Amino acid sequence: MKEKTPWQKQYHKVRDAVIVAFGGKCFGCDKKLTRKTAEFSHIEVDEEFNGGSRGSWKRITNVMKHPSKYGMACNACHKKRDIKLGIWKWQVAT
Ligand SMILES: [Zn+2]
Repeated sequence: MKEKTPWQKQYHKVRDAVIVAFGGKCFGCDKKLTRKTAEFSHIEVDEEFNGGSRGSWKRITNVMKHPSKYGMACNACHKKRDIKLGIWKWQVAT
């Protein structure tokens, strides 16, 4: 039997792996992050992945491909950072 939304399962799997790879906590406030609370923020402005039209799947696979280009944060820190884009320095786990 086929899954209704196989991409969603795959997406969660990838997202979980990425969260672990990023240390599982917010770079801004050290808050523990889960699949539901983790957000990925681009370190540099990226036209393709900036703004409201970015696709989650495309984004998460891009995070996996280029982890050094992203920071993982909670919603509050992400917002804070988006406001101060370019000012906040992200430290990315290697
Ligand atoms: Zn935070």
